[in-house]
Amino acid sequence: MLTMANRILFTNGFVFDGKSADRVSGQTVVVESGKIERLDHQVVGNPDDLVIDTCSHTLMPGMIDAHFHCNSPSFDIPGLDDIPPSHMAQFARSYLENMLQQGFTTVRDAGGADIGLARAIDDGLITGPRLLVAGKALSQTGGHGDMRTPGHFSPCLCSNTAALSVVVDGVDDMRRHVRDAFHHGANHIKIFVSGGVLSRSDPIWMDQFHDSEIVAAVEEASSRRSYVMAHAHSPNAAMRCARHGVRSIEHGTLMNQEAANYVADREVFVVPTVSVISALMRGDFDLPRESKTKLEHISDRALSAIEHCEAAGVQLGFGTDFFGALHGRETQELIERAQVQSNAAVLRSATSINAALIQHEDLLGVIQSGAIADIIIVKGNPLADLSVLTDPGNIKLIMKNGRIHKNEFTDAPGD
Ligand SMILES: [Zn+2]
Repeated sequence: MLTMANRILFTNGFVFDGKSADRVSGQTVVVESGKIERLDHQVVGNPDDLVIDTCSHTLMPGMIDAHFHCNSPSFDIPGLDDIPPSHMAQFARSYLENMLQQGFTTVRDAGGADIGLARAIDDGLITGPRLLVAGKALSQTGGHGDMRTPGHFSPCLCSNTAALSVVVDGVDDMRRHVRDAFHHGANHIKIFVSGGVLSRSDPIWMDQFHDSEIVAAVEEASSRRSYVMAHAHSPNAAMRCARHGVRSIEHGTLMNQEAANYVADREVFVVPTVSVISALMRGDFDLPRESKTKLEHISDRALSAIEHCEAAGVQLGFGTDFFGALHGRETQELIERAQVQSNAAVLRSATSINAALIQHEDLLGVIQSGAIADIIIVKGNPLADLSVLTDPGNIKLIMKNGRIHKNEFTDAPGD
């Protein structure tokens, strides 16, 4: 029986370390007590070691999705509130299990999931990637997270989109909600700073939250040594985020060169989400008329925004933002990004850059001494051909926290 005390030696592979442009061969990767102990050309084995010959496949860090939604069975966001929490948790379980099988060993929820799912994973009740949660995303009244239809008049303004977001107005309310989110186990905070596609009444270009509200969220998160991620499509929204200390700008779809330069100067991350836009543009899902109009406005700008960011030296993260039947194809985002970036740049986004974004620099998203042993072994060379990652059948081994969840190499244990 394999225990955490046993060493695991991965031999005969090509190592992509999450940072370099090329793979390195001839190194044995030594995993012990859940960590990568070292990479070495010469390792003297012990009888208790588990030695896995990786057959010249690619050993690389488990991938990270920095914009994932657990509570996401449909693009009909108001309709999500008709799903009981226990049922929603089962949708989330299936998406999380699937993410792990695709080679994602960490996902950052961008609004909706509470700490319960992360605990269920840690307790072994469900299998899934490491999950970092925001609790409910925070929106102003009439903002992107206020999912009431414009024709729906509730007796009070306390609109609460239970599955994903909650409405917050004013500095005091913001501070209270951010404090409450951390009290309930949030790892980070999500706010909406511009209009969005799926909400009905707010234009994409609309600035959301007053500067003082953004600052309040950032201050409260900082006091927890955490940070704020912010939905922002427009150049102005992106610059407001950077000015007020937001750590990651989500989507950034309309960012121009000026905004990209401004964001790069302040070392703020941007997490593009392009494949969800492509899928919606193909008409795979029914959307309200207002959403379609907004979608058309952003769809042909998303890739050039990435080019502006790359030219400016912005640290580009990797996220998907999938809902409904899109789940299970998250690796498609790698392919879409490669239209305007090198394969190595895309893979760095999904590994080492995302790890830095989520405050796990040199612990996740890298194959190096001292890192947490989140490892996947892939048949083929993703640096030459990203499409090998779009077929989970090419992922021959999945390890998270030093524990093997899939292993097609030996008779050794796996889930
Ligand atoms: Zn999202």
